[in-house]
Amino acid sequence: MIIVTTVEKLETEIANARSKMKSIGFVPTMGALHAGHIELVKRSVSENDYNVVSIFVNPTQFNNASDLEKYPRNIEADALLLEEAGCDLIFAPSIDAIYTESEKNYRFEFDFEGLDTVMEGKFRPGHFNGVVQIVSKLFTFVKPHRSYFGEKDFQQLAIIHLMTKKLEFDIQIIDCPIVREPSGLAMSSRNERLTTSQRKTAASISKILFESKQSVTNRLPLELKNWVENEIAKVDELKLEYFEIVDANTLQIINNWSVASVGCIAVFCGEVRLIDNIRY
Ligand code: AMP
Repeated sequence: MIIVTTVEKLETEIANARSKMKSIGFVPTMGALHAGHIELVKRSVSENDYNVVSIFVNPTQFNNASDLEKYPRNIEADALLLEEAGCDLIFAPSIDAIYTESEKNYRFEFDFEGLDTVMEGKFRPGHFNGVVQIVSKLFTFVKPHRSYFGEKDFQQLAIIHLMTKKLEFDIQIIDCPIVREPSGLAMSSRNERLTTSQRKTAASISKILFESKQSVTNRLPLELKNWVENEIAKVDELKLEYFEIVDANTLQIINNWSVASVGCIAVFCGEVRLIDNIRY
């Protein structure tokens, strides 16, 4: 496994792999890797000849300076995990290797066709502009055959599918299931910022989501939304940002159960913002 920090070196290595007719798998991450990320990497390794993982805490997708500053970083530990998982190349560029001065500061424009009007898009204005900005750049550099994303970031995944289609990337996007702690808590790099007692508290989020699934047959979506909101409100130290039940394809809020649906939640546990979701 090699670690490269420049686009030139990355492109040379990719061209070399492609010249040997190797299929390229790609997993974009922001590092501080956990078992959820590693599942994506293992899936990529099982389906491709040459596997690339990027580690880049992308400043343009953060709309909160303190969240960006406190985002956990640990490249040495990440490299050990990736080597073990069978990764061939880690791309870990500096901000200047990726963005020009003007790119760092302007809002990348993209027509989300309404996918960004709810949930993360609503509460983190500009977040998905930054996500599309970085992932489209990385796709252009790596030119993978397949790229792997987690369903934990459900709205992001829908937007990556749309972006891939609209920008005509010839890349297969592979959706990977949420990996959870034994407590049910969805794995996240941000969990590292939770205290031991907050980690226990945060497990209530998935517990409430799992429980909500039991009553889909006797509650309308709006009633279920209210139930989840009330249950979260009962837990000290959890502060709900949103819970929405949406159409799994259009991400628009639904009023009845006639379509495939997903409940998406964002909650603060102390200062740490956590997201999770469940399919109904
Ligand atoms: P991040 O480093 O948080 O940007 O995540 C990189 C990729 O890992 C994204 O596609 C995430 O959806 C995915 N991911 C993060 N946490 C999990 C998890 N618990 N289960 C599955 N995929 C995950």
